[in-house]
Amino acid sequence: MTSKSAAAATRATVHGYPRQGPKRELKKAVEGYWKGRVTAEALRETAATLRRENWRRLADAGIDEVPTGDFSYYDHVLDTTVMVGAVPERHRDAVDTDALDGYFAMARGTQETAPLEMTKWFDTNYHYLVPELGPGTVFTADSAKPVGELREALALGHTARPVLVGPVTYLLLAKPAPGVADGFAPLTLLDRLLPVYAEVLADLRAAGAEWVQLDEPALAQDRTAAELNAAERAYRELGALADRPKLLVASYFDRLGEALAVLAKSPVEGLALDFTGPGAANLDDLARAGGLPGKRLVAGVVDGRNVWINNLEKSLGTLASLLGLAERVDVAPSCSLLHVPLDAAAERDVDPQIARWLAFARQKTEEVVTLARGLSGGTDLITGRLSANRADLASRASSALTSDPAVRARCAAATPADARRAQPYPERTAAQRARLGLPLLPTTTIGSFPQTAELRTARAELRSGRIDGTAYDQRIATEIREVLAFQEEAGLDVLVHGEPERNDMVQYFAERLNGYLATQHGWVQSYGTRYVRPPILAGDISRPEPMTVAWTTYAQSLTDRPVKGMLTGPVTMLAWSFVRDDQPLGETARQVALALRDEVQDLEGAGTAVIQVDEPALRETLPLRAADREAYLDWATEAFRLTTSGVRADTQIHTHMCYAEFGDIVSAIEALDADVISLEAARSHMQVADELATVGYPREVGPGVYDIHSPRVPGADEAAALLRKGLEAIPAERLWVNPDCGLKTRGWTEVRASLEHLVEAARTVRAGL
Ligand code: GLN
Ligand code: ZN
Repeated sequence: MTSKSAAAATRATVHGYPRQGPKRELKKAVEGYWKGRVTAEALRETAATLRRENWRRLADAGIDEVPTGDFSYYDHVLDTTVMVGAVPERHRDAVDTDALDGYFAMARGTQETAPLEMTKWFDTNYHYLVPELGPGTVFTADSAKPVGELREALALGHTARPVLVGPVTYLLLAKPAPGVADGFAPLTLLDRLLPVYAEVLADLRAAGAEWVQLDEPALAQDRTAAELNAAERAYRELGALADRPKLLVASYFDRLGEALAVLAKSPVEGLALDFTGPGAANLDDLARAGGLPGKRLVAGVVDGRNVWINNLEKSLGTLASLLGLAERVDVAPSCSLLHVPLDAAAERDVDPQIARWLAFARQKTEEVVTLARGLSGGTDLITGRLSANRADLASRASSALTSDPAVRARCAAATPADARRAQPYPERTAAQRARLGLPLLPTTTIGSFPQTAELRTARAELRSGRIDGTAYDQRIATEIREVLAFQEEAGLDVLVHGEPERNDMVQYFAERLNGYLATQHGWVQSYGTRYVRPPILAGDISRPEPMTVAWTTYAQSLTDRPVKGMLTGPVTMLAWSFVRDDQPLGETARQVALALRDEVQDLEGAGTAVIQVDEPALRETLPLRAADREAYLDWATEAFRLTTSGVRADTQIHTHMCYAEFGDIVSAIEALDADVISLEAARSHMQVADELATVGYPREVGPGVYDIHSPRVPGADEAAALLRKGLEAIPAERLWVNPDCGLKTRGWTEVRASLEHLVEAARTVRAGL
């Protein structure tokens, strides 16, 4: 392979880098600022240092063009809201008084004002703050942040490319402001927004930007003709500006689809496309469309969302076939590296034989540089890297961890019948009624009780060795006794042990399953200053021994009422972990499902009559493109049924999901074939009960009557009113009474009162039946 021409020498670049710093310095500084322990000056200083270090790290690694503006104190969508002056009315005073405090007020709210709503950034586990727009929104340009950060990078001698959220994606991510009719479409504000982008672009140009990147991941989702038209107009108008930098429009997380032709024809100078995962379809699409003549293509060939080393030869092949399709081809990760941890080399506890398969942000940067070098200078330049990469990939493929014959054989032997309950629901419900003897409108909770400071202390002391396993277990046992005693006193019907032993509903199981890897420093931003350390599904999954049976049976030994066993479902185990990229997701889900199935069987064998398998992530993992959803829902629901279908008719399977919009997955909920499902409903006034009734959902439902996202204690009459509303849609024989979600983030005082009211409400409504 040789370079096309000297002028088109391939550049290595990235769309964005983790913001937190190697020791999560940003989190500490921001939280310190909130507590008044860090001054604004010191916070700015920390931020500038982190940006400087990131750019230096990137440049040292060989990145030719560093991104700017990807840094954020909290969230890059909120930064865009500031940039376009779309501050909600209720935060105006705070922002005018002090820009930084106003910024955090929008992010976190204050005593008097609610924060912006937070929601997931596409199908990642990053959450952004939702812009609130209305017909009265007036946009004004504020380029201080993008220009300031560009200047910093230029002053340090870097070639820098500012990265902004694009105008179409910004509007598509927005929602109608409070008080504005639901039907209002923020995209109708495009004509008002474009001049503001024009102004920011001119400012960036004046500050020395040659290129500016506009991120339009919303165009990688299914879009209507009107939305595609808006994109066409946006880039025609921005392209026509006289005083502007060159524009690179970036899409990621999926194929660009119909928007590809729109952008290819637009007068922008470059496109960045994702060629990994579902984005791989961009390759054919691009060839079919005749490429991007005269344009720059930034090829995302290194997956920015997983933690695995790249197949460098395969990527070089992709890059080679792209060479003829654009004027120049540069190399990048598929998306911002925000979604992966910083540095795999920091994981000293991971077996070196496994660590060589891992690539976090730092390693992905090196891969991008290697690929760019190979593409422009020929593979001779990188033979050492290529052979090392080949060896690493081979070690992964042949490792006993990634191919456990016992797990493989068991997966292959699983039949469709294994994923089906032996008896139809009517038979099961009769058997369960006879065994459980519950009243109408039975009361229960979703599983967790408050994670108190004492519990967190106990865990910290166990970790640091201040207490041993026995002492820790004693504290857990004490907690379980208290949780049980309270529930009996309060009069709940189906009890739980409270999950005090679980630090996290995924991590707890990941730590107990073979094939799962934990990291020590693998932090990724979830939102604001909240970082999580997702476990890694590294190998074939099996369960060496029961994981929950001991605590569940201990809890059951303390009461005559049924105690519900509590597990995290296979789809959620995948959704909140880093998944394998060397086999289909459905295969990994099936392995996890079979391991969990053993747990379900063991719980049943130990006498547990009610088992709940939580799947709060079922909906959030839904593929971005509708065409891919059916295949996903097929394997996802099958994995759930594989987990739960081995039980007897009189063992009652519950599931739980915590969101209120079900429209697009109602048939999947049905396909789970759970006996009882509990859902979030309190805030939406039992709307889900209506939705389920409309489709004729045939089994038992517990729409939440207690909103656990707020410390507010609902009154008994309020809960009763919600229940009566639920009864309009679901008959009493099939209606359960429960909170919206687990209680782990709440305090005991509110939980006590709220659950007492919930039981009182159930009794009142029951009496009137
Ligand atoms: N059983 C879990 C709990 O109660 C469920 C949490 C969730 O749905 N996110 O905490
Ligand atoms: Zn929940």
